[in-house]
Amino acid sequence: MTTMYDCIVIGGGPAGLFASYNAAKNGNNVLLLERNDRCGRKLDITGKGRCNVTNACTREEFLNNVIANPKFLMSAISRFSPDDTVEFFESEGVPTKVERGSRVFPQSDRAQDITKALVSACLREGVTIKYKKVTSLLVKDGEIKGVRCGKEDISGNSVIIACGGASYPKTGSDGSGHRLAESVGHTITSIRPSLVPLTSRDKSCRDCMGLSLRNVGITFVDKNKKVMYEDQGEMMFTHFGVTGPCILSASAHIKGNFPCDLYIDFKPALDEKTLDARILRDFSGMQNREIKNAFSALLPSKFISTFVQMTEIPQDTRVNSITKEQRAKIVSLMKAFPVSINGTRPIDEAIVTGGGVDCKEIDPKTMQSKLVKNLYFAGEVIDVDAYTGGFNLQIAFSTAFVAGNSI
Ligand SMILES: Cc1cc2nc3c(=O)[nH]c(=O)nc-3n(C[C@H](O)[C@H](O)[C@H](O)COP(=O)(O)OP(=O)(O)OC[C@H]3O[C@@H](n4cnc5c(N)ncnc54)[C@H](O)[C@@H]3O)c2cc1C
Repeated sequence: MTTMYDCIVIGGGPAGLFASYNAAKNGNNVLLLERNDRCGRKLDITGKGRCNVTNACTREEFLNNVIANPKFLMSAISRFSPDDTVEFFESEGVPTKVERGSRVFPQSDRAQDITKALVSACLREGVTIKYKKVTSLLVKDGEIKGVRCGKEDISGNSVIIACGGASYPKTGSDGSGHRLAESVGHTITSIRPSLVPLTSRDKSCRDCMGLSLRNVGITFVDKNKKVMYEDQGEMMFTHFGVTGPCILSASAHIKGNFPCDLYIDFKPALDEKTLDARILRDFSGMQNREIKNAFSALLPSKFISTFVQMTEIPQDTRVNSITKEQRAKIVSLMKAFPVSINGTRPIDEAIVTGGGVDCKEIDPKTMQSKLVKNLYFAGEVIDVDAYTGGFNLQIAFSTAFVAGNSI
């Protein structure tokens, strides 16, 4: 006789595992289907293998860090907060620590400890895990009846789609959750890379490849010179353009508004007048030095040659012959060094997917579909995404908690 499950969860990432655990804890007979030969492949590489599992912040701070559809998440984050995430993992034997920016990591610095804790919590609660790809949903009279895996039909009273987004497809999340939802009538809002490096053809990026900048200001302006995004923090030059935490955050805001210009402020703490006075003071102590050797106290050494080229002052010009106009150019470039941005790296390289199942078609209090009875969603497959800092995993846990407990 074939088993009839109370709940079938599609996807063994953080959302699917946590939804399965919660549904099973309430006494449901739960089947988790994962297309890979193990759960949590993406989870294992989060936070460069250390897993920034949540952010030690308040509900309001959390919502301020959600880029798409924060209101949709209000109820879920109230029911399962960042504190609850920390408490869950600590009670599962994974002590945590808080780092800069309130980012929470396992004390072991091992993302795999987070995956293992989720899998063992599921197994303890009696979740059956099978490694199969769901190819279609079985729906009759507007109600979910189960799933199809190739030629095999599996019956279930409810189904949770937790297939993730479309970024890093090699980890298993290749947009198949969007296709499953679309096949039963859901709208998928436009899919785009979010939290993704930006590309530039500027020679300066290639010349400075590998250079990391800390505490710089960044400003993005569109074709009409309108400011789209401003931030301060870390960034990096690469062979293809720019990346780093504040560039990834900017990418989520720019939303395909290319080409655009990035201006880097190397001295965000100093206004132009104070910076000019500082340069004058530095120059007065090195009158006979060539300009190319005059910026070691102000700029990273790897950047100086590129910077001097941009000033258009010959590299061997003596400091004592620099004119007032040339100094004004130095100041303005140091406050707003331009980089032309022409696009993003592909979605394969995005940390999260922008777009997904339209939130208007999901009940935020249960995560149930408004179109198909007993069909639920959890995690990145939904049109919600947030900045880096542990917020995206918290979205996975909060929505999974709600979906799992609604079964
Ligand atoms: C490099 C990188 C680093 C990141 N670091 C962080 C971080 O430190 N902190 C943070 O908060 N966020 C981070 N993120 C984002 C975070 O990983 C995701 O937001 C999160 O994993 C989403 O969880 P999910 O369960 O919804 O989807 P996923 O983790 O993508 O899991 C979905 C699962 O569903 C399976 N699946 C898909 N389709 C099917 C199907 N048809 N049948 C069966 N199974 C299927 C997939 O194989 C996959 O295992 C990072 C992302 C990347 C790419």
